[in-house]
Amino acid sequence: MKPDFDVTIVGYGPVGSMLAILLGKKGYNVGVFERWPSQYPLPRAIVYDDEIARMIRLICGQEVSEKISENLTGAYEWRNASGDTLLSIKHPDNGPTGLPILNFFNQPDLELVLNEVCQKIPSVSLYRGYEAVDFIEKDDSVELVVVNKNGEQQSFSSSYLVGCDGANGMVRKKMKVEYTDLGFAYTWLVVDIIPHEQKKMEPSFWQLCDPKRPTTIVPGGPGRRRWEFMMTPGETVEEFNNEKTAWKLLKPWGYTKENCQLVRHAVYTFRGAWAENWRKGRVMIAGDAAHLTPPFIGQGMCSGLRDAWNLAWKLDLVLRNISHDRILDSYTVERNPNVQGYIHMAVELGKMICVTDPVEAANRDKVFLSGNVEPFPPLPHVTSGVLYNYSEQPDCLTGRLSVQGIVKHDGKVGLLDDLVGSGWAIISANGDPESAFNKEQIKFLEDIGSHFIEVTTDISNKNGYYDMEGTYQEYFKQNQMEAIIIRPDFYVFGAAASKSELTIMVDELKKQMHYQSAVSFLS
Ligand SMILES: Cc1cc2nc3c(=O)[nH]c(=O)nc-3n(C[C@H](O)[C@H](O)[C@H](O)COP(=O)(O)OP(=O)(O)OC[C@H]3O[C@@H](n4cnc5c(N)ncnc54)[C@H](O)[C@@H]3O)c2cc1C
Repeated sequence: MKPDFDVTIVGYGPVGSMLAILLGKKGYNVGVFERWPSQYPLPRAIVYDDEIARMIRLICGQEVSEKISENLTGAYEWRNASGDTLLSIKHPDNGPTGLPILNFFNQPDLELVLNEVCQKIPSVSLYRGYEAVDFIEKDDSVELVVVNKNGEQQSFSSSYLVGCDGANGMVRKKMKVEYTDLGFAYTWLVVDIIPHEQKKMEPSFWQLCDPKRPTTIVPGGPGRRRWEFMMTPGETVEEFNNEKTAWKLLKPWGYTKENCQLVRHAVYTFRGAWAENWRKGRVMIAGDAAHLTPPFIGQGMCSGLRDAWNLAWKLDLVLRNISHDRILDSYTVERNPNVQGYIHMAVELGKMICVTDPVEAANRDKVFLSGNVEPFPPLPHVTSGVLYNYSEQPDCLTGRLSVQGIVKHDGKVGLLDDLVGSGWAIISANGDPESAFNKEQIKFLEDIGSHFIEVTTDISNKNGYYDMEGTYQEYFKQNQMEAIIIRPDFYVFGAAASKSELTIMVDELKKQMHYQSAVSFLS
């Protein structure tokens, strides 16, 4: 019997909704079950990077993505109680995706726009007010048991189930997978305000490393500001988590009831933890259900959205019978080490920020002020999984985020995504990449939904994508290669120095995808 859905998703936070959109846009029947009857109104995440900006732009469009975020440039500073700069983490304005690296936003605004997109997809059914309580895996499907708004129990079957049900989710618990917790646990009061009058703050986003009260000062999305105050030894959550405390702590920063609206205050314990395995048979987990990152580098939600993009293209291949479902094992293999990289980075920063002992703080400051500190490590990439010739050498492109440039084609100008959309991309700087392949390879590449793109510096080449700013030209030249294969989640599968290597790469991709040529397309 055909299951009720291709995929059921538990949880409609940013990760569940993104996954529902990605699968729904491909035409899959998706059932999303969310225990709360309406949207969770309280802001949590406030910043996402250029990789996530690329996802949001592709899903919601340029206008919406620009409306919900505020792009700021400058350094993320750490200052001690005397005002000395201990650390200054500088970013270029734009990342390799051609979009801003620092996008400040208000999480409920993002969830709202994701919801608007999701609601327009006819094959996605959203069940709000339904709490998932159990699942039973069978040979050919998985049955999700939910309790509906009236307290009645119902079951829905699907080919695959994904738990995007947050930190204390039931799906991970029922999967009984090993869970590693680094033991990092600090409690912070998070306070969001809307100032009546917008004032420029300098620095705009920074960390006050004062052992008396470690504090984070950041924008909170357009028109908003956020403070995060660490609870210090001797304080209790009860006395800390109330409006009076929020106002008391805001006052020294110049904000009172007279000049701002207090949007919310909430207490969170920042932790670093992850599940060891994110897939068991037909069941998977993503987002906070699979991992927790302290927010010092603003990467918790970003990692969850990367999970959704990684999983979506793999589930698509499996649901269309293009790939054997063994490809789903590469989900944990690719995503888990990547997330752990971010978690370790955030925990290490957190250990230096969350210092309340004055002697320890003075020693920390001395080290920073001596300038004798390790440089900020490079961001994690994909190190194993569906990749061609990965190496740890910094000049290897495989597993790294691909660049994106502005192109002109058919009278239109924009970032490459704006013109071609998402999917696999075979980009060549030396003629039409399609001409390199035999019929079988072309069929395979078409089956997986590839775009064949010739980037060119010859404006009269009507078939090519004119490389407006020379981004691709420089990328190819610098790395001495002719062509590149980019995955739908923007990571480089592999780079080829010649057309013959490109064909070898495609055969390798076929193998790694567990390609089954009998493709069944959606009706
Ligand atoms: C103070 C703070 C600051 C942060 N700052 C950043 C930042 O700047 N950048 C960043 O990237 N990340 C940040 N994060 C992390 C980010 O907020 C989370 O990683 C993100 O919300 C996780 O999304 P999710 O969809 O995985 O889970 P959630 O947002 O937790 O959503 C899970 C959903 O599942 C539902 N659910 C749970 N159980 C069930 C069930 N049994 N049945 C049905 N539904 C269920 C819940 O109701 C919820 O709606 C921050 C977090 C905090 C606390």
